[in-house]
Amino acid sequence: MPATLLTALSEARDDAAPLVTVGDDTLTREELVGAAAAVADRISGAERVAIDARADVKTVVAVVGCLLAGVAAVPVPPDSGGRELQHILADSGAELWLGDPRPGLPIPSVPIDPSRRSATVRPEPPADAPALIVYTSGTTGAPKGVVLPRRAIAASVDGLARAWDWTPGDRLVHGLPLFHVHGLVLGVLGALRIGSPLVHTVRPTPDRYAAAQGTLYFGVPTVWSRVCAEPAAARALSSARLLVSGSAPLPVPVFEDLVALTGSAPIERYGMSETVITISTRVDGERRPGWVGLPLDGVRTRLRTESGELAPHDGETLGQLEIAGPTLFSGYLNNPVKTAETMTPDGWFRTGDIAVVDRGGFHRIVGRESVDMIKSGGYRIGAGEVEHALLAHPGVREAAVVGEPDADLGQRIVAYVVGDNPDTTAIIDFVAASLSVHKRPREVRVVDSLPRNEMGKVQKKALLAD
Ligand code: ATP
Ligand code: MG
Repeated sequence: MPATLLTALSEARDDAAPLVTVGDDTLTREELVGAAAAVADRISGAERVAIDARADVKTVVAVVGCLLAGVAAVPVPPDSGGRELQHILADSGAELWLGDPRPGLPIPSVPIDPSRRSATVRPEPPADAPALIVYTSGTTGAPKGVVLPRRAIAASVDGLARAWDWTPGDRLVHGLPLFHVHGLVLGVLGALRIGSPLVHTVRPTPDRYAAAQGTLYFGVPTVWSRVCAEPAAARALSSARLLVSGSAPLPVPVFEDLVALTGSAPIERYGMSETVITISTRVDGERRPGWVGLPLDGVRTRLRTESGELAPHDGETLGQLEIAGPTLFSGYLNNPVKTAETMTPDGWFRTGDIAVVDRGGFHRIVGRESVDMIKSGGYRIGAGEVEHALLAHPGVREAAVVGEPDADLGQRIVAYVVGDNPDTTAIIDFVAASLSVHKRPREVRVVDSLPRNEMGKVQKKALLAD
């Protein structure tokens, strides 16, 4: 790991060209360094500060200011209010609020002014110093504060740079939220470490993506599905070098549509707040629909079966994915018990995700142990396999499968689908051709939309609570 985390900020480069663009605002390298150093002056001495993480250059200035000062940054979703905001502020112990004042804030505000400048140069904090405290998406429970050290960010970005051949010559485009790992660690700090100019489109719409003329695009699966629904925008992305999907499973039909419309297959990568990105398909390797590829350089993975054995890499045996290597977090904030529970005695992180690995080391994420593994009639069924079969039906646009409590079966398989007036009996008959009896949904419910969070992740807890 080079001494500096944000390598591109300390390198001599064309200072007249924008390094960061968010919507209509741009910052050159020199402007960003000066503005961030001014933030660092204001916060130095603090341990943790909260950032109003809206899609704005101010957020980039604030985060870089924290990294320069060696203060842990706690990005807060911009629309969080009330209890969520109070929870993050109280749990993180943030001493300052970097952003415009808000009613009810229990801590002093420090508004960000990107035109302020400071020339103070500070020594680089150590690699194990906490850089960010990121709250998880809360898909499976209350959001947890994940402490990410600088070395985890550096190791993951460097692994991705090698897997994707990501260089300063790239122009990165995305419109992801700036308070999760995807948009912030890869989408901002990645660009500032590699030195590839970043264009943040504020909203991740197909027309804005098409207009931004990037070489490298990031998106969650719902973004790619919307892009495919607008073929002109999708075709405009044909000139991009790489379209990258992550944060949730990319449905196989969306993968195939992207190939048909852009002429090249998307890159899929897997990660989580606690491990940053760890697995990806490679620019020079196979891109197989439904599979997320190989561990990044330095990352080790293994699968553990329900009975506690290591699963063979045979492309079939399910196991919980465990991960080791330099991209791991330092722990959950204020929760040593939870941290200890998720680590194995030999220092591997238990992801809670079920996967299979084939002989070539390729990984497929089957789903989350807690909500996607259904136990029905003595069988263990991955919701993803059933969703995959449903999505192959031309009348089904989106599908989410859950196991509802059932006195007889333990859990019964129920499918929620979105489509244009799909005939539920026809759908059940259709999937019967590809799924064995115990994997078939007992019931198909048509809904207008699936409950998803801002990252496009389906909130299965909400479906089960209905
Ligand atoms: P919480 O931990 O609060 O329940 P969360 O796990 O959704 O929320 P994140 O850390 O943002 O919070 O998301 C990580 C999870 O997202 C992974 O554990 C995995 O289930 C899912 N995921 C990420 N990338 C992919 C991918 N390419 N394919 C399938 N699933 C993915
Ligand atoms: Mg999680």
